[in-house]
Amino acid sequence: MNPLQPAELLHEGKAKKVFLTNRPDVVAVQFKDDATAFNAQKKAQLSGKGLLNWEISARLFEALEAEGISSHYLGCLGPGWMVVQQVEIIPVEVVLRNRAAGSLCRQTPITPGTPLESPLLDLYYKDDDLGDPLLTEARLELLGLLRKEERDEIERIARAVNSALQKLLAALKIELVDFKLEFGRSPSGELILADEISPDTCRLWDAGSAEAESESRILDKDRFRKDLGGVVEAYGEVLKRVQGMGSAPRQYR
Ligand code: UDP
Repeated sequence: MNPLQPAELLHEGKAKKVFLTNRPDVVAVQFKDDATAFNAQKKAQLSGKGLLNWEISARLFEALEAEGISSHYLGCLGPGWMVVQQVEIIPVEVVLRNRAAGSLCRQTPITPGTPLESPLLDLYYKDDDLGDPLLTEARLELLGLLRKEERDEIERIARAVNSALQKLLAALKIELVDFKLEFGRSPSGELILADEISPDTCRLWDAGSAEAESESRILDKDRFRKDLGGVVEAYGEVLKRVQGMGSAPRQYR
């Protein structure tokens, strides 16, 4: 078979570009250095971020696969490039929380950092112009975004991802505070875990940090959101630990 070649640009998002390829239903994703926060109101270029998120995400998708959790991920094409199954992204952001942070604390009286006894699942409507509003189950149904079986399947997968990621990151002395997943539908209509899993989409705290209560433990995009500096360095620390799990991400063939 001919080697996989990226072809025309299909879609450019905030953090990634998606290219068609010379194979049907297979697309190539390039991770960008652009950083955005607050629905893209805050923007910056962070040199090296794309490569870090690419490798962290590839390794985490492979680790999930080893735990029986499949995704759109097929392999890598070279530094910064991931090969994935083409899906149509469902405009629902699926957030799983183990500790209170971010919007949960802005929208409720819960104190930041409070451990949540049972991991909380929150669904948001993915629409920057509307500010990614929180969905109720009734609004989800009203908008017809997911079939009932898909909504339940998404929750099952998100909770399985949470258990698997929590365990593997804990072994690397990283606490998984919360994270966001996206799902898509394949051309045959199958529900598939998609997007990326990286410090852009997860809150990660250094469990090995001596200063347990300080901001120095933050190893994720909150460093950018809160102007704490050291964003690329923190992502680099996550990659260094994740590299400790095993071999380099596989090449797509
Ligand atoms: N998140 C994301 N993309 C979004 C919104 C949230 O990746 O558009 C991630 C975020 O990094 C965090 C989790 O989802 O790990 C929960 O985010 P939250 O709802 O607290 O919103 P935020 O504080 O980011 O506004």
